[in-house]
Amino acid sequence: PFDVLIVGGGPAGAAAAIYAARKGIRTGVVADRFGGQVLDTLAIENFVSMKETDGPRFAVALEEHVKQYEVDIMNLQRAAKLERVGSLFEVQTADGALLKSKSVILATGARWREINVPGEKEYKNHGVAYCPHCDGPLFKGKRVSVIGGGNSGVEAAIDLAGIVEHVTLIEFGNELRADAVLQRKLYSLKNVDVIKGAQTTEILGDGKKVTGLTYKDRASGAVKTVELAGVFVQIGLIPNAEWLKGTLELSPHGEIEVDARGETSLPGVFAAGDVTTVPFKQIVIAVGEGAKASLAAFDYMMRLPTE
Ligand code: FAD
Repeated sequence: PFDVLIVGGGPAGAAAAIYAARKGIRTGVVADRFGGQVLDTLAIENFVSMKETDGPRFAVALEEHVKQYEVDIMNLQRAAKLERVGSLFEVQTADGALLKSKSVILATGARWREINVPGEKEYKNHGVAYCPHCDGPLFKGKRVSVIGGGNSGVEAAIDLAGIVEHVTLIEFGNELRADAVLQRKLYSLKNVDVIKGAQTTEILGDGKKVTGLTYKDRASGAVKTVELAGVFVQIGLIPNAEWLKGTLELSPHGEIEVDARGETSLPGVFAAGDVTTVPFKQIVIAVGEGAKASLAAFDYMMRLPTE
């Protein structure tokens, strides 16, 4: 069996693998897609110590760093089940393989909910964005819209209003769903418009980048166009933890509950990165949490009875 089996090969999983392997323990990584979300990212300008890089380059660097060590990387394998059997954990893959380990680190990340309108896929990374902390500064001096009036949408609009020229927040329902204190802040900003009862119908572009969007006023049925350079879709971040329901404790948002050491409700199983309840989903945070979970897993292993 492995000493530590890491599920997920994004920044959190890679950091966990490096920290585990450096302890000289048997380390495995099983990943659906090694690299994770950064594979879908263009510019990365906030990974501390690197002024600028891009996602694919960052993913290659992650993999090269992990491969410096004796780590068994099982790429293109999806974990489907986690179970404690006797003194070991068993991870079953969708292909039916069975992996055994003394401890497990879950680092399966998350995915942004898409709105599925024409133009979204075509202009992803060319004006269609999901993360204001990541891509906000790219729209300095420009007009953008935020789709979604829940807490994350309203937070994004407030955040962006300080950077960009103008923000149009578009909410499908007749009311914003964000906390009242956030709404008050939002309505106090002069460079923000809020449009409610509006269904986004298309993201427009010139073939290279976003130029606007159209929405349908749900009350009148009228279709309207807004000209802008960027669209931030903020209708939810889905943790890749559906397969763990019933196995360990998840938050109401479906995130894996972890304590300060990254331990889950199942002793010996740790978690790190975007899939957990740790707030703020960023690469630098995922990397730190991955390292932390790995050290905690090692600490756990030290205390296991000798065979
Ligand atoms: P992920 O990167 O999501 O990796 C999860 C890993 O788990 C993947 O290998 C995946 O294939 C695997 N996996 C999932 N389910 C299973 C399963 N059942 N079995 C096996 N493997 C599984 N952050 C920044 O700090 N700066 C930026 O500029 C930035 N830009 C971004 C731009 C975009 C378009 C996106 C989508 C995100 C951006 N982020 C950025 C956020 C950042 O990418 C994430 O915070 C970070 O990748 C989280 O790392 P992670 O390891 O927790 O998860």
